[in-house]
Amino acid sequence: LIMAYDPARRLASMRIGIETGLVGVKMMYDLLDHPITMLESENAKPLPEGPRQVAFRNVSFNYEGGNGETVLKSLDLEFAAGKSTALVGPSGSGKSTILNLTMRLYDPTDGQVEIDGMDIRDVTFASLRENMAFVGQDTFLFAGSVKHNIGLGRADATDDEIIAAAKAANAHDFISKLPEGYESDVGENGGNLSGGQRQRLSIARAILRDAPILLLDEATSALDAESEAEIQKALHDLSQGRTTILIAHRLSSVMRADQIIVVKDGEILEQGTPAELLKNENFFKRSYDLQYDM
Ligand code: ADP
Ligand code: MG
Repeated sequence: LIMAYDPARRLASMRIGIETGLVGVKMMYDLLDHPITMLESENAKPLPEGPRQVAFRNVSFNYEGGNGETVLKSLDLEFAAGKSTALVGPSGSGKSTILNLTMRLYDPTDGQVEIDGMDIRDVTFASLRENMAFVGQDTFLFAGSVKHNIGLGRADATDDEIIAAAKAANAHDFISKLPEGYESDVGENGGNLSGGQRQRLSIARAILRDAPILLLDEATSALDAESEAEIQKALHDLSQGRTTILIAHRLSSVMRADQIIVVKDGEILEQGTPAELLKNENFFKRSYDLQYDM
């Protein structure tokens, strides 16, 4: 299995892109922490003004080189503009894949992903990038300073804005204690920092990006319980008024979402507001009754 977030694989794709020098291939590392080696459509246009609703229309998907199983099966999903949707479900059910397709790291095998009604295959990479921020389980950092790595969130950010984002992400204190503060080198692959510290830089980057669509894939998984609670709050504040898709394990985060979608084996098992789902005996209710984190 090739891991979607494997840094070595990312570097490999980066090299392929650079060496072949394909026209139209854009690298969006700063965007979503992932290199993209897809071609931008010739007629690509920026997204029009809009509320930023995300929709999956009859989307099926297989990974090339996967085990041949269909990962997403004719999915119809609507992520309401400005609202938060929690994706929950067993490991391997396709949650991260839904985010991968939203970011257009892959194209659907069938069906389409739309933002405000526009097929994202027709959208410029620059526009997709401007409109989305992603925080994942594992953060890819570039050789360079802490400041540089946060600043990738937005090219024109001032030092004050970078510091404000770091404070909101609970990163300012640890950064200030580094030998050279914001100028400290993160090391190769961020090796001078702990997993939790890297994750906080990634959250600071997302805060700085200030994008209308926020994608969170276990964004606090590398943090200890105390920092996690604080950052959950920061992310919850950040999600207000943004179209947010979050994959979270803590029941407390899931319960705060406007909508919950339970995914199993690439299909929707249950869907509704937290209150609606708790009215019936179902997967979600059983987990809730046991106070299981998802
Ligand atoms: P979840 O996030 O719900 O745990 P994923 O979306 O990561 O699930 O994975 C769904 C399925 O797709 C799993 O069977 C997984 O093994 C497979 N998969 C995920 N990423 C890749 C990849 N890059 N290549 C091949 N198969 C993958
Ligand atoms: Mg996942």
